[in-house]
Amino acid sequence: MKKETSKKISELRRDPVTRDWIVIATGRGKRPNDFAGLKKAEIAYVSKKECPFEDPKAHGNSEPILILDRSGKEIKKDSPDWFVQVVPNKYPAFSGTAKQRHARYVGPYTVLDGTGFHEVVIMRDHDRSFDAISQAEAQSVISAYAIRFNNLSLRSTIHYVSIFHNFGKEAGASLYHPHSQIMAIPVVPPDVSKSLAGSKRYFEDHGKCVHCEMIAWEKKDGKRIVFENAYFIAFCPFVSRSAFEIRIFPKAHEPTFKNISMEEIGECAEALRNILTRISLALNKPAYNFFIHTSPIDLENEENRFYPHYHWHIEILPKTAIWAGFELGTGIEISTIEPETAAQFLRKFKT
Ligand SMILES: [Zn+2]
Ligand SMILES: [Zn+2]
Repeated sequence: MKKETSKKISELRRDPVTRDWIVIATGRGKRPNDFAGLKKAEIAYVSKKECPFEDPKAHGNSEPILILDRSGKEIKKDSPDWFVQVVPNKYPAFSGTAKQRHARYVGPYTVLDGTGFHEVVIMRDHDRSFDAISQAEAQSVISAYAIRFNNLSLRSTIHYVSIFHNFGKEAGASLYHPHSQIMAIPVVPPDVSKSLAGSKRYFEDHGKCVHCEMIAWEKKDGKRIVFENAYFIAFCPFVSRSAFEIRIFPKAHEPTFKNISMEEIGECAEALRNILTRISLALNKPAYNFFIHTSPIDLENEENRFYPHYHWHIEILPKTAIWAGFELGTGIEISTIEPETAAQFLRKFKT
């Protein structure tokens, strides 16, 4: 058994004005790469020999929670044929085993323990990132997301499951080896809250899902669509927050990622892989982030009846700019290319 008990639990704090949450996770400071003294290039590239994800267990990681092969089939924990393995993060931002969330009050502030789960989804090949893997392999990764999402959403303290992927040091990846992360957390994150509130407002005003409306209009207008298959559509949003931002939506209205079918997993993998390949070719392998936005977890709400207005999707953000004073001071991001032009450019590349 690994000793986790000495690790300090993180803390969530809410600003009483904006009602936004932040997390203070001092335990993460123990991450070897995190503080001064490390040259940037070393974070950017770690040789295969030194890479902790070549053999995660040998590098002190716990037993994997899930292992899939290159076809997406679940296999034995010690199988050498693994393509995806999910392990608990060695430096979790959320941890602990509390059965209930207990809010405390410190002056005007609300404080919660950072109870939750933090997992890493490791892909097998050191130098093959998402844009270089096969369709079956991409499907294996999305399957791992779906299996873990469903499992984590059954935990009583969990309110949201965040799945994201950072590629390149400019996008915040602290390890070169391709991997995604899953954080199951006890609060609904501010970006999702705002998105839910906005979707709800539109639904109440118009009786329709705002996302379905945007998809319908994108299909009619055609200018910003980059890729489409039977179940998914990918486009540069009309209101892009940054250059080459892309979103992938299921065409059918669906509030949560939780209900994704096997068939949809295949189509989702195709769309995501296609988009990341185009970005890689068009922007010369830039750093990027992608993440899933989905409705929150609520055990008493298994039919998602409280979020009928939401529509899950993937947001892909190539790192094309850094936030400076204006963005930080106003929350307004500056995109340096029209989404119509970005989509047109991305469509040119053969995948
Ligand atoms: Zn590696
Ligand atoms: Zn919809």
